Amino acid sequence: MSTGFNTRAIHAGQEPDPATGAVVVPVHLTSTYKQDGVGGLRGGYEYSRSGNPTRTALQEALAALEEGTTGLAFASGLAAEDTLLRTVCAPGDHVVLPGDAYGGTFRLVSRAHSRWGLEHTPVDLNDLDALRVAIRPTTRVIWCETPTNPLLNIADIAALAEVAHEAGALLVVDNTFASPYLQRPLTLGADVVVHSTTKYLGGHSDVVGGGLVTADAGLGEQLAWSQNAMGAVAGPMDAWLVLRGIKTLGVRMDRHGANAARIAEFLLGHPAVGAVLYPGLPDHPGHDIAAKQMSGFGGMLSFRLAGGEEAALQVCERARLFTLAESLGGVESLIEHPGRMTHASAAGSPLEVPADLVRLSVGIEDVEDLLADLEQALA
Ligand SMILES: *Cc1c(COP(=O)(O)O)cnc(C)c1O
Repeated sequence: MSTGFNTRAIHAGQEPDPATGAVVVPVHLTSTYKQDGVGGLRGGYEYSRSGNPTRTALQEALAALEEGTTGLAFASGLAAEDTLLRTVCAPGDHVVLPGDAYGGTFRLVSRAHSRWGLEHTPVDLNDLDALRVAIRPTTRVIWCETPTNPLLNIADIAALAEVAHEAGALLVVDNTFASPYLQRPLTLGADVVVHSTTKYLGGHSDVVGGGLVTADAGLGEQLAWSQNAMGAVAGPMDAWLVLRGIKTLGVRMDRHGANAARIAEFLLGHPAVGAVLYPGLPDHPGHDIAAKQMSGFGGMLSFRLAGGEEAALQVCERARLFTLAESLGGVESLIEHPGRMTHASAAGSPLEVPADLVRLSVGIEDVEDLLADLEQALA
């Protein structure tokens, strides 16, 4: 039976426990499993790096939400990315990265994987001609993020899938910002979806985790092999927290998006604000593509201060309800200065962000309170 997104979020992989009837999947805090005679495994479980029932539940939920066939849960988003890239690439291969990739992804490829012989080129993914020029015979992966962090740029997933496949490369989409509730890249032609489940999937700023989902059975098997062989698995407690968060993803994303839209409108009309970067705004350069491939515009928003870096730092420090902190995607609103915080390591690189930029992760508090806080912070 094919069911709706919210039904899958609550039920996929989460049947009541057969032994007790427990409605909530138990946290299986065990490293090993009793065998009924040598090799007589119950349910296929032998050792918790290889498999753990709480992680299995999360993995089935991730696959169901992204409309894939294999879901895999990792210790962090970067652990998922590392396992993926070292599975589908070999030394000497080449990866195309978005010109404004998540800083951690850029560091992983440009500093950690480069020592292993992986090559990379950052490209503006909105420029398909530049992308075609960057592709080499050794290009194995085109890496896409949409919307991007922290500039909220939008890339056309279906168009990129076509270019990647013509070149014999995989299209990987980091779907962390949108979440599967708003955007399902596998249905648009992507080969693998990556998540930092730390963000919207977990949703409560209480866990670090990552995920991979694919609809390609062969690739799924390879990635599952690597998950066990490389060992960067999600622990059972972390898997449980993400699973708990996923149940309310739909209602949270609706509120995140509604609050962000109101705040975008407010900031647009404020004299201290030079520009508002939110794909829900009709004059955002990626608005039409976002409207086509997303069912909402999400809760992330950035804006530039007319008064420059000093004004941006002041807003961050004056905000009270918006907590000054890195990360995103939790129920509480966060504010940060990417140039000095999340993206400080990009200074002097192609990923450097404007110094007058402030990023908001808009939470699900009452929007009037959020607006009042920004009003006083901007005054
Ligand atoms: C946070 C984040 C990551 C990295 O995930 P971790 O869980 O912090 O390892 C990757 N991509 C994006 C877009 C992120 O926001």
